[in-house]
Amino acid sequence: MPYTEDRSVWFEGQGLWSHVPAADWQDWVWQLKNRLTMVEQLERYMTLTPGEKAGCLFANQKLALAITPYFFNLIDRNDPDCPIRKQVIPHRDEMIISSGEMLDSLGEDEHSPVPGLVHRYPDRVLFLVTDRCAAYCRYCTRSRLVSNAQDYNFHSEYEQALRYIEAHPEIRDVLLSGGDPLLLSDKKLDHLVGRLRAIKHVEFIRLGSRIPVFLPQRITPELCEIFKKHGPIWLSIHLNHPKEATQELKEACERLSFAGVPLGNQSVLLKGVNDDPDVMKALVHRLLRMRVRPYYIYQMDLITGSAHFKVDVRKGIEIIRTLRGHTTGYAVPQYVIDAPGGGGKVPVNPDYVEKITDDEVVFHNFEGKIFRYPLKSSPLPVPAGTVMPAEIHM
Ligand SMILES: *Cc1c(COP(=O)(O)O)cnc(C)c1O
Repeated sequence: MPYTEDRSVWFEGQGLWSHVPAADWQDWVWQLKNRLTMVEQLERYMTLTPGEKAGCLFANQKLALAITPYFFNLIDRNDPDCPIRKQVIPHRDEMIISSGEMLDSLGEDEHSPVPGLVHRYPDRVLFLVTDRCAAYCRYCTRSRLVSNAQDYNFHSEYEQALRYIEAHPEIRDVLLSGGDPLLLSDKKLDHLVGRLRAIKHVEFIRLGSRIPVFLPQRITPELCEIFKKHGPIWLSIHLNHPKEATQELKEACERLSFAGVPLGNQSVLLKGVNDDPDVMKALVHRLLRMRVRPYYIYQMDLITGSAHFKVDVRKGIEIIRTLRGHTTGYAVPQYVIDAPGGGGKVPVNPDYVEKITDDEVVFHNFEGKIFRYPLKSSPLPVPAGTVMPAEIHM
């Protein structure tokens, strides 16, 4: 059955927490304090499947369980296949380690000159500023260190990282991630971003954060002022499914946009969540309506215990094919595989080119029709009676 939704509706409201004063609900510290972190709390509101229950009991050895009340409301508690549920409720399948899976599948630790800094590409660095998030995605690519369930004891060395960036003039782009950088206090963020902005060769500063999606209340006017002050700051958010596009998130994106923060979205292709062209189309359309440009769709990284989320790459390519040409160009993200072992992000988009020779390129369009574009051109005879400008006659 194709995925359908009422496009005029944006989910909003306090749901299960309608008894809580609105001021508490809108307070991000309240949301963090009231996160669901234990199996007993989940079971107060829903019946877990045996697989989920076993997963919850295992979570403290793998990746912590935490869900904000705001995000928990988006779960359809009567549907064991709910795409929101699968992203944040642990499952026994996380314990199964399959061939090819690694703790650090992107080889980040090997490319880390300073604790917390990953320097893989020539002109940009990934700066991991914390190991904590507002809620934990069960397919986390950094589950080896995030939430510290595996006793990795991650500690970012801000001063060392800043000194490394200062000493490397080739670094023109710094990406703050983690964990979630928006869990830092306003004061820390202001200081950190201010320090980066003061480095002359750092032209481009961006953050990767799922906080707008898990905790839109964190996007306060004060935070937006910090972005404004140090701007331009770009922000990549992380939605996987159109149900995550709520009224609260839309308003948070609006606050960010009005503060001059360009927004992108990164999705992970996840089995049973968004491995469906109709779901992805609905998602990218919602994103544009929230002023968010779809940036990447990631093929699942080969992290331990992720096989149950893995989607065939051909399915991902098919999804891009159903978007390109069929809808707004701005709505079409790049589909990439982050090369296992640390080769960086590589696009794996549909191929439209049939053949290229010295004479022409032969390609097909979104409808499958073949077209040719000549590469060689030679002048045609001038039609009789044509009056040529004098300089061409000579
Ligand atoms: C994803 C990533 C980046 C940023 O890549 P872009 O394609 O520029 O968005 C930078 N460094 C590392 C290590 C990354 O994984």
